[in-house]
Amino acid sequence: MQELTNEYLQEAIEDSRPFASSGSVNMTIPQFDETMKDYLGISIITTDGECFSAGDTNQYVPMQSTSKIIGLMLALQDFGKERVFQTVGMEPMGDFFNSISQLESYDTHKPFNPMINAGAIAVAALIKGQNAEKRFDRYLKFLRQITNNHELEMSEEVYQSEKANGARNRSLAYFMHSTGTLVSDVEDALDLYFRMNSVMMCGHDFARVGLFLAKGGLDLDTGEKLIPSHHLRTVKAIMMSSGMYNSSGHFAVEAGFPCKSGVSGSIIGSIPGRMGLGIVGPAIDEKGNSTAGGALIKKLSQDLELNMFGVE
Ligand code: GLU
Repeated sequence: MQELTNEYLQEAIEDSRPFASSGSVNMTIPQFDETMKDYLGISIITTDGECFSAGDTNQYVPMQSTSKIIGLMLALQDFGKERVFQTVGMEPMGDFFNSISQLESYDTHKPFNPMINAGAIAVAALIKGQNAEKRFDRYLKFLRQITNNHELEMSEEVYQSEKANGARNRSLAYFMHSTGTLVSDVEDALDLYFRMNSVMMCGHDFARVGLFLAKGGLDLDTGEKLIPSHHLRTVKAIMMSSGMYNSSGHFAVEAGFPCKSGVSGSIIGSIPGRMGLGIVGPAIDEKGNSTAGGALIKKLSQDLELNMFGVE
């Protein structure tokens, strides 16, 4: 098995970077431009606390869909598994992440899972708090504890852009309101969802989230248990089956560990008992996954024997 070193990661980055050419940068993100297409960075933190990194690791990007796993953890804390999965399903979906047709055809009108936009908005609506601002404060506090980065903030520019480009998410939310899936204030749920998407993080922060999931939900500095293990199991299982949009089956086969991607080109990976990893590679494919980041994950899985289903 390949030894994990910064030099190895640098080589893996250079092998994977050419895959960026087949992707494109999401221009609705205000800080993004074409020059970022070839950016690729990775941070890994092992459960023993060793840190490794290579490439463009200091690049801050909005969380986008990686926020969906934090929202799910909070909703599970607030209401428990049974209640959360009365609102949202736990099945993978073959359509695109912002699909609306599935809401009409699925017999209970439940979104398929919490990793697609409709499901994440329905989950955001569950998070406890007086209004979107207060609920977002809880979200940010939890995220800062998980990452031990107390500087994390929402980007006002990204938030404004999410709102301005949010027509599809608004239609998902109002449709769910019409069917009784989303019973709380629709605008409030959307506002929280837009804010959650807009928090800026770098590779190390994403890796800390992966490590938190890999290491039993402990505050990594105080050792305090922040969330019960059974909720972490649920979140990792949902990441495995649905975390990479409608390429999740492909990543389950090729990587073999739970991952969650966002359209900023971010990916959180969690290898239970071993490590968390965070990747930033802004060029994404048509399904929303970082092209170079996806290639990097597959390479690491093979070289470092990360596949949870067994290695050759
Ligand atoms: N913010 C975008 C949306 O809600 C993208 C989320 C994602 O990363 O998939 O549609």
